[in-house]
Amino acid sequence: MEPVARQLRHDLAFAGAGRGRLGNSLEREFDPRTAKALGKLGLRTVDDLLRHYPRRYADRGRLSTLNDLQLDEHVTVIARVATADTRPMRNRRGAILTVQITDGTDTLTLTFFGKHRGSLEFHARKLRPGVTGMFTGTVSSYRGTRQLTHPDYETFGGEHGQGTSGTRGGGAVGPSEEQEAVDRAERPIPIYPAGQSIPTWKIRTCVEAVLDTLTNEDVPEPLPADYRQAHQLPDALTALRGIHSPHNEEDWRRARERFRHEEAFVLQTVLAQRRAAALETPAVARPARPGGLRDAFDARLPFELTAGQREVGETLEAELAEPAPMMRLLQGEVGSGKTVVALRAMLQVVDAGGQAALLAPTEVLAQQHLRTIRELLGPLGEAGMLTAADEATRVVLLTGSMGAAARRTALADAASGAAGIVVGTHALLSEVVQIPDLGLVVVDEQHRFGVEQRDALRAKAEVTPHLLVMTATPIPRTVAMTSFGDLETSTLRELPQGRAGVSTTVVPADRPRWVERTWERLRQEIDDGGRAYVVCPRISATEPAADGDAPLDTGTDGGEPAQLPLETGESARPRSGMAAVEEVLPMLRELPALEDVFIGQMHGRMSSEEKDAAMADFASGRTPVLVATTVIEVGVDVPDASVMVILDAERFGLSQLHQLRGRIGRGSRPGVCLAMTAAPPGSTAFERLTAFAQTADGFALAETDLRLRREGDVLGASQSGRSTSLRLLRVLTDAPIIDTARAAARELVARDPGLSGQPGLARAVAEMVDEDAAAYLERT
Ligand code: ADP
Ligand code: MG
Repeated sequence: MEPVARQLRHDLAFAGAGRGRLGNSLEREFDPRTAKALGKLGLRTVDDLLRHYPRRYADRGRLSTLNDLQLDEHVTVIARVATADTRPMRNRRGAILTVQITDGTDTLTLTFFGKHRGSLEFHARKLRPGVTGMFTGTVSSYRGTRQLTHPDYETFGGEHGQGTSGTRGGGAVGPSEEQEAVDRAERPIPIYPAGQSIPTWKIRTCVEAVLDTLTNEDVPEPLPADYRQAHQLPDALTALRGIHSPHNEEDWRRARERFRHEEAFVLQTVLAQRRAAALETPAVARPARPGGLRDAFDARLPFELTAGQREVGETLEAELAEPAPMMRLLQGEVGSGKTVVALRAMLQVVDAGGQAALLAPTEVLAQQHLRTIRELLGPLGEAGMLTAADEATRVVLLTGSMGAAARRTALADAASGAAGIVVGTHALLSEVVQIPDLGLVVVDEQHRFGVEQRDALRAKAEVTPHLLVMTATPIPRTVAMTSFGDLETSTLRELPQGRAGVSTTVVPADRPRWVERTWERLRQEIDDGGRAYVVCPRISATEPAADGDAPLDTGTDGGEPAQLPLETGESARPRSGMAAVEEVLPMLRELPALEDVFIGQMHGRMSSEEKDAAMADFASGRTPVLVATTVIEVGVDVPDASVMVILDAERFGLSQLHQLRGRIGRGSRPGVCLAMTAAPPGSTAFERLTAFAQTADGFALAETDLRLRREGDVLGASQSGRSTSLRLLRVLTDAPIIDTARAAARELVARDPGLSGQPGLARAVAEMVDEDAAAYLERT
């Protein structure tokens, strides 16, 4: 974490001190050891703890399946003690207690060591045959038997954590006490996302200790009363009790429903305010100028715009002509022609006397945008050169790795206004870059930028510029509403004519003949003048992660396992080997099928000059095969590229695979995508790839992808701090809630922009904005 981010975190935590009980540090509530263990889960304040919701609820009567516990896995299981046996150790002093727990079919061994028999008495008394309880530890193997050594456990019957007796003392039990015990025994047990530092029942004990003494005054209520009433949602404190300490299933279901509404409502309020504030600031109207640069551009376009491009073009033209800032998201399949649409908007702004900036997520993409734009503009983009057309403008590039001289020239052109179009990476955000007449900011592939970066660029202009965000990742409607709720959306659905398209086949890596055929197919295409990508999940075998440019996105987590074990933590086992550029390259060079073919490479650890050179060699055909990581995922455009072999394809998310595939079949040559995988047919991973092979519709794939992912990943850590503030809300399945909350939030903000009548909501909104800011600082 950057020092400044740490400072901000500290400030926020400090600010929390003024928030009453919820702002209290856990160190003030619990003993230092407990506070430290909770801290390891990222929980620092009472509020953090209360927002650490149970992952699921278990029922005392249902035992966990013990037969498929994996070695080295941290597990929590419910089971019954079958046998318990204390005996002296054979070869050294001391005693050993061996307990067999069972699910009725399989068993698992618990082992406790003690200095002498007496020191094990404590456990032996609690772990008597017939007792059920919850056990947690890391699965190890001893002489072929799976076991937990010194597990933490809680026996049922006693309600307190390890260390107190599980059996009630002798003597009579009063009727109300008995009733309470029965009631207790039937209540769902919350299972928390826990860790090695603290078992789930200790978290439960902490949460209950806090809840017992909490009052309505301690808990702010972000949801307006009429909204709660309209949707029959419990109040905040009732919901906290319901989610952490439910009496029955109905309790926690209602509580979760309420928190989903709360998350959606707070977020939609943030977005509604952001949009309202942005629309309030004036912008310069940039109406189209007949006979200007854009018309000249249209006249020299070698193709007809598609109906979709024309329609979106008209929307943009009208919005740019308004004195309020345009705030629009343009989504469209890879290759749907967004760049042309954006360029026409930029030219309209140049025609009106302004400048436009295009922000790309990587250097490769910025370079490519520059090339594309210069090519499309021809003499129209060569102002200052002899070949220039009369109304020409200048297009300059600004990236972090430019030489000092080139950079000085570009900076001067941007600052003087000579450059109508400035293309760059986040280097554009640097304070030294001045674009005084900035009238339009185009952000390509927004999913890699935060809202704040967008704002930083917009802040360069004296007057708020218009904004166009482009993304090739199709975003389901509710995700767009959540991630880009302050933007209006346009979509390009059709691809330009003349695209040959891509056919996709899944290749099982354990079928030698298929694999062989894959490389032969690749060779055939090259002999025919085509180009081929070979995509690997990572750069080198020794490196755990993939490229800096594109974090490895496995997308293989199929949500929660339906079966118990209740909680499985990080496995200590190393992941199996993944194809790495540095290993695949020499392997391909040895392949008989690829004899005499020059093979290049590209990945995020190469300098931008190296990457440029690799791209140029590939495009020219000098190296018709390019072994690469996902750096080629977005935007790279080589029309002759027609084959893509994706190695260990199951390692990529569906949307990412679709993006990759979009790199081929862009010209008249039909594309062939071969997704190689070692995933066994019938496995979820294989099914995903089959879906990928059968579906060309990026929107459908994006939805499938999201369904298959874990909730926290949906919005992507890169988008915002949302993954921390949206805990229960699921953007796909909770679409109705998002719709409802969005309408209500917009209406509320229109009525009461400062939220003066909703102090609880105002506070929650402020916290979310702070969290976004902190998350942003951590990313930069
Ligand atoms: P995107 O940015 O949406 O992936 P691009 O704008 O890069 O797509 O367009 C992909 C390719 O299609 C480019 O080579 C572009 O020149 C071409 N193209 C764009 N619009 C059309 C059209 N209407 N007809 C034919 N080709 C087009
Ligand atoms: Mg593009």
